[in-house]
Amino acid sequence: MPATTISTFLTALTSGDLEVIDLTTPLSAATPALRLPEPFVNLIDFSLEEVSAYNEPGPFWRHNNIHTGEHIGTHLDAPVHWITGRDGDDVSQIPVQRLIGPAAVLDLTAQVADNPDYLLTIADVEAWETTYGPLAPGAWLLLRTGWESRGGSEAEFLNADDTGSHTPGVAVDAAEWLATQRQIAGLGVETVGVDAGLAGGFDPAFPVHNHFLGNDKYGLTSLRNLGRLPATGALIVVSPLPIVGGTGSPSRVLAVVDKAGA
Ligand code: MN
Repeated sequence: MPATTISTFLTALTSGDLEVIDLTTPLSAATPALRLPEPFVNLIDFSLEEVSAYNEPGPFWRHNNIHTGEHIGTHLDAPVHWITGRDGDDVSQIPVQRLIGPAAVLDLTAQVADNPDYLLTIADVEAWETTYGPLAPGAWLLLRTGWESRGGSEAEFLNADDTGSHTPGVAVDAAEWLATQRQIAGLGVETVGVDAGLAGGFDPAFPVHNHFLGNDKYGLTSLRNLGRLPATGALIVVSPLPIVGGTGSPSRVLAVVDKAGA
């Protein structure tokens, strides 16, 4: 039987020539979450509620209810999450083709180490494209910032003081440019949200949300292990739950990489 593309891929997975990397933050009651200031209302955190554990309510089985906001932990933002995308797709309506694609990893670790409020610029993306080629149609642009190392502590992860939350993000003009001049599927970040911590004070406020979700693109947050991906050449699989009417969903995010190229 002749090899198909899928059989070649599966052979490489089985042999270990391809490696699967989990980009997801484990989901528990301790997973860091966004804390909106008053008067805004926050989502609930994730929690497990035991219903049975091989006992009277279910003698042969263990199962739980889950309680969670949509935008908790590693999660996808769907277009309807933002007022600019209000007529767009909810999370169940996203074409699944757009949830698998090339990963483009842009490393801002050095800039963010010097300045936690660092904002990605158009020049940063153009420099990346000069080295690695144009952002591919359908690609997920993943910002590596080193922020995942703070994920064990919500205080360190949110990095807030009297002047706000100091976490990296994307400059206003770069958010608009990426959303309108590149045919990418979405933006993935290591931080709690796709916008910078201080982005509520930008014009427009929360420019990644504004421009990406308003231009039928997606957001993806709280990613880990981006340092294990090559700048190009990895495949990303994003798997939000198809919540009907949902504005987002906790998501398992996987990458497939060439073992030698990782
Ligand atoms: Mn969100």
